[in-house]
Amino acid sequence: MATERTFSIIKPDATRRNLTGKVNAVLEAAGLRIVAQKRIQMTQAQAEAFYGVHKERPFFRDLVTFMISGPVVVQVLEGENAVARNREVMGATDPKKADAGTIRAQFAENIEANSVHGSDSAENAATEIAYFFSGIELVG
Ligand code: GDP
Repeated sequence: MATERTFSIIKPDATRRNLTGKVNAVLEAAGLRIVAQKRIQMTQAQAEAFYGVHKERPFFRDLVTFMISGPVVVQVLEGENAVARNREVMGATDPKKADAGTIRAQFAENIEANSVHGSDSAENAATEIAYFFSGIELVG
């Protein structure tokens, strides 16, 4: 598998607890390189559009409210098989089901405030990267 890129978000529960560096250390130890990163405050419209695929889910409103409750760190990660590697190191959505050592097992508060987002396919990664970053911000 060639080098690929994925999109990641360090969510408000983690930035609030000053865990950006600790999350990044886990990502880097997993062989992922942070090739772009910025801390932003998402607007409601941006969060709704980003999570548009979930708009029929019962937790959609709560999820949007949570994602705009504080700053997030949006990131582009690069590495061998980066999409799958990041999903592996993130752990299961529900931290109670996440494997030991994963980011969510170590840091997540609950199934919603679960510290990180990661793209679930290379196609979604490309869309999500383009949503938050311009070409000039991606230096590889
Ligand atoms: P992910 O790919 O592991 O992030 O999971 P999903 O794409 O299924 O869900 C997106 C995000 O919605 C999750 O990361 C959680 O923040 C939130 N979420 C998922 N399931 C639930 C749920 O059952 N209840 C609540 N409140 N939030 C959820």
